[in-house]
Amino acid sequence: MSRPVDLSPMQRELDNLRVQLCHCNHAGTCLGCQGVEMLRQQVQMVVSAATQPVLMQVAQETQAKELMKQVQEMQERMLRDPEAARAIEELLKYFQAPPPEDH
Ligand SMILES: [Zn+2]
Repeated sequence: MSRPVDLSPMQRELDNLRVQLCHCNHAGTCLGCQGVEMLRQQVQMVVSAATQPVLMQVAQETQAKELMKQVQEMQERMLRDPEAARAIEELLKYFQAPPPEDH
C-alpha cells in the first residue's frame, strides 16, 4: 500500500460516537469515552501496522493478535450496554468492510 490512508471520516465518526456514549461530561472517565479512545488508538495501530512495509512480520502478527484480543475484550464489556453495542457494531464495519474509494 503506497497511498496515505484518510482516517478523517472515521475520526469524525468516533467523535460522534463518543458524544453519544459519554456519561461523564467529556471528562474522559466513562466507558464511552475510554472505549472510543481505545478504538481510536487501535484503528491507528491497525493502519500503521497494515501500511508498513513488511519488516517485522512476526512482531506484527503478535501485535495483531494482541489487538484483536483487546478489541474482543472491549466488545464484551461494551455489549452489556445495548446502546454501546449498537454503536460498536456500526464502528466495527470499518474493520470488516472498508468503504469504497471515491477516486
Ligand atoms: Zn465520557
